[in-house]
Amino acid sequence: MDNILNNPLFEAYANASDNVYIYVCEVKNDLSRWSPNAVSYFDLPGEYLKEAGNVWGERIHPDDREIYFNDINAVFSGRQETHCCQYRAMNRFGKYVWLECKGSMQRDENGELSVFAGIITRLDVKNKYDTLTGLLTKYDFYDTDLSDGKGVVMLIGIDRFRSIINTYGYHYGDELLTTMGKYLNSLCTGCKRAYRFNGDEFIILLPNMDKEGAMKLFESVRDNCRSIETRDGKRIALSLSAGAVIYGESDYDRDEVVNHLELALSFVKKSNRGNVAFYSDEIEKRQARALMLKEDLNNSIANGFKGFELFFQPLVDAKGTGILGCEALLRWKGERIQNAGPMEFIPILEEDSSINAVGRWVMRESVKQQREWQDIYKNFKVNFNVSYQQFLEEGYVEDLIKTVEEYGVDPDNLVLELTESCNVESPEDLAMIFEKIRSYGFHIALDDFGTGYASMELLKKLPADEIKIEHSFVRELGNGEIHKIDFAIIESLLYLCRKVNNSVVVEGVENKAVDEIIRKMDADYLQGYYYSKPVCKADFEEMLRKNHMNIVSSAK
Ligand code: C2E
Ligand code: CA
Repeated sequence: MDNILNNPLFEAYANASDNVYIYVCEVKNDLSRWSPNAVSYFDLPGEYLKEAGNVWGERIHPDDREIYFNDINAVFSGRQETHCCQYRAMNRFGKYVWLECKGSMQRDENGELSVFAGIITRLDVKNKYDTLTGLLTKYDFYDTDLSDGKGVVMLIGIDRFRSIINTYGYHYGDELLTTMGKYLNSLCTGCKRAYRFNGDEFIILLPNMDKEGAMKLFESVRDNCRSIETRDGKRIALSLSAGAVIYGESDYDRDEVVNHLELALSFVKKSNRGNVAFYSDEIEKRQARALMLKEDLNNSIANGFKGFELFFQPLVDAKGTGILGCEALLRWKGERIQNAGPMEFIPILEEDSSINAVGRWVMRESVKQQREWQDIYKNFKVNFNVSYQQFLEEGYVEDLIKTVEEYGVDPDNLVLELTESCNVESPEDLAMIFEKIRSYGFHIALDDFGTGYASMELLKKLPADEIKIEHSFVRELGNGEIHKIDFAIIESLLYLCRKVNNSVVVEGVENKAVDEIIRKMDADYLQGYYYSKPVCKADFEEMLRKNHMNIVSSAK
């Protein structure tokens, strides 16, 4: 029996891990041996213990003793063969730590209880390695001392990872993370380290590297991930963004480094996706402004949309000079921040779905407005913007229908513009919603058409009535060389839209030269600063009064 307590196998296991403790007990004499790390950590009287159950029981939290004794007594009385329970025990520092204890009872050839052995695992100790990717975990990063030396630490995030999961499923998402983990690990030679941070985010620690070196490294990672192959041979284009911090230049503490990394990553994802941003005071200021904006926007919403207003920009007849309709564009002024445009505050509203409430307000105001103008200008079209997530919101379509009924508006005069169509994650679901909306007579427009790789694909999948060609192709049409390419792009987009029976709005007409070029093409509506910037209701009505005759002559 001596062999059970004193053998090389026990000694080998006893030293295998800092956070796992082992014990083995010779039942006949109730003598047991505990691994040295347990003796030291729990301040046990020695490696060899007589009646260890009681010695150990004293260390267990009084509230957990009953659980422990019930279970262990069941094993030692032969009623059950395994011991498994979780409880708190006091360590040598006088602190209770959560443990999981598992053990198994063996019998001898006569069926008598002979050997009881098991392991105790500390539950408060975080894993060193990530089970999915095999990389070091963020806890290991937290334990890394950055006060010594200089370098760069970078937080890399996969852009729109959620949409990849939605499209390909969780299993594929896991495959991708594993592949990314392996790839990043392969780059980390010498003292470089790769860690899995949260979800789709990874940290790479680059000691002795400067900003330029880190930027180059990021660019090469980003370029390599443009076509990444998973184990099952599927290829996918990943877009990566990163936030980075230079350490060793000032007295950073760990929480500050992590906070700055997250700020820089969130900043770059919003403003310059696909790139790396190094944390700076400027980023801190912008993030502080975004936080203030969020607070003030929420207050406005809670205060009956106080501070929100619709501006209107005319949609001009491409074959005549009249104003056939308008696009309603949201404006907002807070008490503290007065100068935020929609490009700044709409993404903030979209972050937490506040856009749904504001979007319903926009819809109601637009419908109300159409009703008002309809009495004077027959069949006046009102376009308003709707974010992807608003279309998916439960009850949106029902509310839209209820609102037009309430105001007695003909849906034929309302156009819902899908903004930023490149964000569409599930075109099939959206197509069904569009069909439903169109079946009531409303029109759907695809905004900013021509940008984003998905435009053509979406045109194929989404049933739309109107296409709005993005400014960037139009603005410089009057300028020499670039003009030729933009001209060709617009002409082919117009041709394409005609083929699929969509009407076309050309946006971004800023001057007479562009107006003249566009009017020779086959568009339906023109929009741009040349005709008018978006203006408040009073100014727009003034503009309509001046254009009244034109509107009447061009109306359907
Ligand atoms: P958008 O839908 O593409 O709206 C057109 C934007 O182009 C407007 O900017 C307008 O002022 C601007 N624009 C018009 N003509 C010209 C021109 O000739 N040259 C140039 N450079 N720009 C021109 P705005 O009002 O700042 O709106 C920006 C974006 O905010 C909109 O882009 C739309 O995506 C979003 N947005 C505005 N209102 C709403 C809303 O009520 N709901 C939602 N979800 N999004 C909105
Ligand atoms: Ca629009």
